[in-house]
Amino acid sequence: MGCSPQRGHWMDEDTAVEIWRQLQSASPHGCKIHLSGGEIFGDWPRLISLVRRAKAEGLVRLEKVETNGFWLADEDEACRRIEALGEAGMEFLAISADPFHQHYVPLEQVRRLAELGRKTLGPTRVQVRWEEWMENGEDLTAVTPEHRNAVFAKWLTRGYERINGRAAEELAGLMERKPIDTFRESICRKSLLRGKHIHVNPDGTLTPGVCAGILLGSWGSGEESSIAANWQRLKDEYDSRPIVSTLATGGPVALAEQAAERGFVIDPRGYVSKCHLCWSLRKWLFAKGLGGEELGPAWLYGI
Ligand code: SF4
Repeated sequence: MGCSPQRGHWMDEDTAVEIWRQLQSASPHGCKIHLSGGEIFGDWPRLISLVRRAKAEGLVRLEKVETNGFWLADEDEACRRIEALGEAGMEFLAISADPFHQHYVPLEQVRRLAELGRKTLGPTRVQVRWEEWMENGEDLTAVTPEHRNAVFAKWLTRGYERINGRAAEELAGLMERKPIDTFRESICRKSLLRGKHIHVNPDGTLTPGVCAGILLGSWGSGEESSIAANWQRLKDEYDSRPIVSTLATGGPVALAEQAAERGFVIDPRGYVSKCHLCWSLRKWLFAKGLGGEELGPAWLYGI
């Protein structure tokens, strides 16, 4: 659940609590909440207030609060914040450490936050996304763009990241491309329709956990736009959604071939991954006004 600023959007506390409640009741097999951003520590009073209120109202289960550690300055204050979140129900402190974040946040700061987190919560309650990078990576806050790109490419080729969105734009030129036929058998039913991970964005839109830019629905305060109603609609109607159904049944190659009939040019150099192909053609569809209600938000597509 995204509760921090995203291009000027904040999810207010009442909304976050209501969505949390609805996610819980719409998930008969259990639901784990993950608070992330943007950067959710950008408004500490709001974060701790939400987490405490959710606990007071009996909402479960706050699996993770995710941060890039940008806010770490006063170590005593950092320990107090981590402890307060732990007491209010947070199971894990999740730290984003990867070449993208280390462009902005010094690696040493991230290592220090992980250390403070483990000291405060215990060794098993801190998760670092790209632990290997945190241990062996390098600070990228003051290196040349060429060096930074070379480091990105090296770590991405280790299979650490899907190439989607901005990463696709910036990094595809640095990595090996494969012919489009390589991805012909890759369909996306599981990622789109059976994923265990869903993002609720600050504007209420719902996106699959791994497919930024694809919209599965939109939460609103009425019953028709509840989380449960969105799920039901997706189940009942997904095959009438041209982009989602094509990706779910035929994958991005099928969608690219459909788009090619309308003018999309399949890059003869090939694509780094199926998600790189998917991103390239979704960007084209969006720019042509062909995304309907299935693609967004506009800022992600550079509009
Ligand atoms: S190819 Fe597209 S739909 Fe499939 S997993 Fe990648 S981003 Fe998601």
